[in-house]
Amino acid sequence: MELYKENQLKIYNSLSKSKELFKTVTEGRVGMYVCGPTVYSNVHLGNVRTFMSFDMVFRYLLHLGYKVRYVRNITDAGHLENDADEGEDRIAKKARLEEIEPMEVVQRYTVDFHNVTKKYNFLPPSIEPTATGHIVEQIEMIQEIISKGFAYEVNGSVYFDVIEYNKTNNYGILSGRNIEDAIHNTRTLDGQSEKKNPQDFALWKKADERHIMRWSSPWSDGFPGWHLECSVMSSKYLGEQIDIHGGGMDLKFPHHECEIAQSHCCSGKQPVNYWMHANMLLLNGQKMAKSTGNHILPDAILTGNNKILTKAFSVSVVRFFIMQAHYRSILDFSNDALLASEKGCNKLMESIKVLKSLTAGKTSDFDVKAWKQKCYDAMNDDFNTPILIANLFEAVKFINLAKDNKATITADDLTILKETLHAFVFDVLGLLDDEKKQDSNKIDGVVELLIKLRKEARENKDWALSDQIRDELLVLGIQLKDGREGTTFTIS
Ligand SMILES: [Zn+2]
Repeated sequence: MELYKENQLKIYNSLSKSKELFKTVTEGRVGMYVCGPTVYSNVHLGNVRTFMSFDMVFRYLLHLGYKVRYVRNITDAGHLENDADEGEDRIAKKARLEEIEPMEVVQRYTVDFHNVTKKYNFLPPSIEPTATGHIVEQIEMIQEIISKGFAYEVNGSVYFDVIEYNKTNNYGILSGRNIEDAIHNTRTLDGQSEKKNPQDFALWKKADERHIMRWSSPWSDGFPGWHLECSVMSSKYLGEQIDIHGGGMDLKFPHHECEIAQSHCCSGKQPVNYWMHANMLLLNGQKMAKSTGNHILPDAILTGNNKILTKAFSVSVVRFFIMQAHYRSILDFSNDALLASEKGCNKLMESIKVLKSLTAGKTSDFDVKAWKQKCYDAMNDDFNTPILIANLFEAVKFINLAKDNKATITADDLTILKETLHAFVFDVLGLLDDEKKQDSNKIDGVVELLIKLRKEARENKDWALSDQIRDELLVLGIQLKDGREGTTFTIS
C-alpha cells in the first residue's frame, strides 16, 4: 500500500535546521545512506542506538510503502585515529597490537557488528559496501577534484583545498562553522604538516613503510582519506542527489561537511536533500565511547553480565527503551531506566495478547480511526517515537477496560486496532513478537521429535517410514540433513 501518498512525512533537516516536508527525488522511491561502523572494535550500545534510529526510519519508510534503497557502509580502511589526518589507521593499529592481519581485524569486527544487528532485530541494508572494495572509484574521484582545482598533491599525498573551495562555495554549510574564523583562530603551521592550511583534509595519504594497508595510485602507494569513501559509495549506489543521509551527531563535522565539499565540487549539486543526525547515548552522564572506556556492550545487556546491571534484558526492552526517546534527544542509559522500560514493554506485549481474545460488541467506546491517525501523525512529525508510544498506551488502556468488560468495540474497529498495533509495535518499532518465537520453538520441538522417530524407524530398518518422514517434511519446506553428528534441519 502506498501509504506515503496520504501521509505528509516531515523530517528535521540538519542542513536547514528545520522540519521540512519530505519529498523524494523519484516518486515512491527513497535513497538512504547511513555512515556505518569502522570495524576495528566491538560496537557498543551508543553505536547501537545510532543504527537503531536509522533502522526505525528505514522501517517506517518501508511501512509507508516506499521502495527504499538503504546503503550502509563498512569502513575497513582510511579511518585515522584523529580528525587532523594524523595518527595511525585504526584498523592497522589494532592489527599491529594483536599481531594479526588488518583484514582479520576487519573480518572479526564485521562479524561482531552483523551479529549485533541481527540479535537486535535490525533489518539488513540493501547494500553494504566497503571502502577497500571501492579504491578505484576513490582514486577517480580524487582525480576529478584535482582537475576542478580543489585539491593539490604534496609528496605523494593529496589534500582537499578548503580555502579554494570556500571562495565559491560554503564550507561550513552543514556544521555552521565559519571557515574564516577557524583560520583566524588556528596557530600558524609548525612546518610539520604538508597542508597549505590546517583546515584542508586528506583525500589520499602516502603510506609510510610501516603502513600495511596500501594501494597504488597516480600519486603514491597509499590509502584514501576517510571522508572520501562515503562520497564515492553514496553517489555510486544512490546517484548525485540522494534523499536521506544519516549518521551520528558527532559525524556532522568534519566527516559530513567534508563529504558535502567533495561531492559538491564533482557534481555541482547539493548531494543530500535531508541530512539526519541521531543523538548520543549517555552512560554516567557522559557520552558512550570506546576510546574513554565509558561504554557497555550490546551483548552484556542481553546476558546481564555487567556490574551496572541487576539482570538481563530482552531485545524488545532495549528497543523499547531507545524508542521512548526521540532520536534527536540525548538519552541516558541506566539500569533503572531499563527496568522502567521493561515494565512498559511487558504491559504493551500483554495487551497485544489480550487483544486476540477480545470479542466484538455492537458499539465502540474507542475512536479507533482517530487514534490510528494520531499514531501516524506522531511518526510523520520527524519520527516522533515517544509520542507514538504514548498513543499506543491509549490503546493499551482501552484494551484492558474491554478485557474487564468495561468497554466494547465493534468487529471492524477491532480489526483496525489489531492491524495498527501490530504494524507499529513489530514492523515500525521492531519489537520482537515473543509469541511468534514461541511458535517457532514449538515447530523446532515437533521436528526434533520426528527426527527421533525417523531414527528409530531406520534402526528397525523401516526405510519406507523413514523416507516418508523425510519427504513429507520436505514438502512443508523442512529439509533434513543427515551428517556424522546426527540429523539437522533447515526451514525455508
Ligand atoms: Zn560516512
